[in-house]
Amino acid sequence: MARTAPLTPVNHDRDSAGMTYVYPVVSRRAGGVSVGVNLNPNNACNWACVYCQVPNLVRGTAPEIDLAQLEAELRAMLTGILHGDFMKTRVPEGARRLNDIALSGNGEPTSARVFPQVIELIGRVMADFKLTGKIKLVLITNGSLVDRPRVQDGLGKMAALNGEVWFKFDSATASGMRSVNQTRIAPEKQFDRLAAAARLCPTWLQTCMFALDGKPPAEPEQAAYLAAVERIRKQQIPVRGVLLYGLARPSMQPHAGRLSPLPAGWLEAFAEKIRAAGLPAQVSP
Ligand code: SF4
Repeated sequence: MARTAPLTPVNHDRDSAGMTYVYPVVSRRAGGVSVGVNLNPNNACNWACVYCQVPNLVRGTAPEIDLAQLEAELRAMLTGILHGDFMKTRVPEGARRLNDIALSGNGEPTSARVFPQVIELIGRVMADFKLTGKIKLVLITNGSLVDRPRVQDGLGKMAALNGEVWFKFDSATASGMRSVNQTRIAPEKQFDRLAAAARLCPTWLQTCMFALDGKPPAEPEQAAYLAAVERIRKQQIPVRGVLLYGLARPSMQPHAGRLSPLPAGWLEAFAEKIRAAGLPAQVSP
């Protein structure tokens, strides 16, 4: 699934010239460089979130992944960042730090058939560059495939690599998920997937909130979300917290014109309600 707002590509087109799967990103929020791994160069996702920033998004799954090419690209990118002049020439002072490798692309990464092999490959490369335990490995996912054994296999491998899952959780109602994520997945099933992910690998909820036709999420939507947070706490599901995002970058989808950012104060007030319901919450307007 695509990165959310606070990550700003630096010379994205040039940097990624010649690379299919790997690209560098400077994160304002984290004050450092993230190496992105895109397993969906075909812009295919099984969801179609109304705020998605992927241009020409289509429904579908990741294509066959050329693992040898992915490994060569990752090694070349890390060599440039750690041993070349990438930081000096491309990254502003204050952000010249490698923070993480993030599986975050133009679609749902866990739809790649070789997802666990990709995690293994990244683990091997991290070890060779002496990065194991020093940087994070982040998976940005809509979580819809977590019940598949191969995805669980990959999440278990991620946990051993200082891994973190950012699990998309915009709505806890069927109508909300239909309207925001354009999926017919049952919220109850999605909750079970969230619980499974959190038990396999440290997991954060990643929530995007915005105004639709000028209106913030309705009261029952907000109440259902907060009830899900309380349920997480009561059932002691080891979710680390909530990353609450606004709409800092424009949607590339047909509904884009109906979406607008919520005031920072609205997001902060909702984060306070999340904290009161039992989970830590960080806001990125
Ligand atoms: S999960 Fe949503 S935001 Fe992520 S790539 Fe798919 S459609 Fe885009």
